Amino acid sequence: MTDDADVVVVGLGALGSATAWQLARRGVSVVGLERFELGHVRGASHGDSRIIRLSYHTPSYVENARQAYQDWADLEADSGRSLVLRCGGIDVFPPGAAIPVDDYVAAMTACRVPFEVLDEVAARRRWPAVAVPDGSTVLQQRETGIVPASLGSATMRERATAHGARLVERCHVVELTADDDGVRVRCADGSTLRARSAVVTADAWTNDVLAGVGVQVPLTVTKEHVIHFGLDAASAAAHAPGAFPVWIWMDDPSYYGFPSYGEASVKVGQDCGGRVVDPDTRDFEPDGEYVAAMRDFVSRTVPGAGPVTRVTTCLYTLTPDRDFVAAPVPGQPRVVVGLGSAHGFKFSPWFGRVLADLATTGVTSGDVSAFGLDRPALTDPEAPVHWLV
Ligand SMILES: Cc1cc2nc3c(=O)[nH]c(=O)nc-3n(C[C@H](O)[C@H](O)[C@H](O)COP(=O)(O)OP(=O)(O)OC[C@H]3O[C@@H](n4cnc5c(N)ncnc54)[C@H](O)[C@@H]3O)c2cc1C
Repeated sequence: MTDDADVVVVGLGALGSATAWQLARRGVSVVGLERFELGHVRGASHGDSRIIRLSYHTPSYVENARQAYQDWADLEADSGRSLVLRCGGIDVFPPGAAIPVDDYVAAMTACRVPFEVLDEVAARRRWPAVAVPDGSTVLQQRETGIVPASLGSATMRERATAHGARLVERCHVVELTADDDGVRVRCADGSTLRARSAVVTADAWTNDVLAGVGVQVPLTVTKEHVIHFGLDAASAAAHAPGAFPVWIWMDDPSYYGFPSYGEASVKVGQDCGGRVVDPDTRDFEPDGEYVAAMRDFVSRTVPGAGPVTRVTTCLYTLTPDRDFVAAPVPGQPRVVVGLGSAHGFKFSPWFGRVLADLATTGVTSGDVSAFGLDRPALTDPEAPVHWLV
């Protein structure tokens, strides 16, 4: 039997779209299969914006993020589209913050990433629209910015197609199997496809796809909200990019927010604040209690924000240690898995490059040493769950 493609990519959100793009631009024949319509809103890669940052808690993430900025630049060059807005960002560590500031300072220092450490007085002077609490430590990093979510994913698919990838929507992969010669996928319509290797980028549905190769990942899927608060004409300038930073609240609960981006509003979300859901039966309605808690937090922290104007929902798919997966299935090198553990969008073109490397050569220059499927956090049922990093 002959192969239909060198690589089949299962799932065309941000990570799968990036993988198809990175493979196709190398001249590798690739077929991408997407269960729903391309650009749908049931997964994790839709919406207007995602944070991109070098500010991370380990040197490995900082270095990989640095590579990701270069991968975004490659996508910008390939597409002729400007995608990364660098507007600067702050990590706010209130007194007694649950997330250790020392990890961020050490990781950025080790990687020679320039950053500033400010107290609350200096931070309030520089960003008067953020009510930084007394006793806080604030880290500022100027490369922090915003990448477009739906547009970024669509751009990767457009460029994948332009380089020769075949992307098929409404093609639900119901079985993936592998042997020494290659992989075989069967879709819900009865069609089958063979390839030399497969990349599984199915996020919340990863375990459905991996069932046929005998591996399961301990994943938790939650329904998360992003909430837009309106701005009146008087407060719009104070919340524009540059005047107002991308910010992350490094405590438990942990929050994050954006300056105005594409519309006069501030967008705010809680990291890992939503309830556990089944991705096939979840609803799309805002959870009232959650929205009320966010409104309360925002009224204290971003006092210039007006009423709620828009609420959207999105799925977080979390590994227990919050680390990525970028690795072959143990014992099955022809099946490679990519999982962003609900902070992967900024890395999506990096994921695409790394997963393309692993699917074609088995090695990559990205540091994926902590992202294997055989790490204790994924294989030991007693391993602690630790999402806030
Ligand atoms: C509210 C929210 C805020 C976030 N903020 C940030 C941020 O600021 N910065 C950041 O870097 N990251 C952020 N993230 C995380 C980031 O968006 C995700 O890590 C990333 O988008 C995941 O992409 P993905 O392609 O793996 O998943 P998805 O976009 O969910 O794509 C998976 C795809 O696989 C398809 N699929 C599943 N099963 C099958 C099958 N059997 N056959 C065919 N196709 C299948 C699905 O339909 C889906 O399209 C956020 C996420 C959310 C929800």
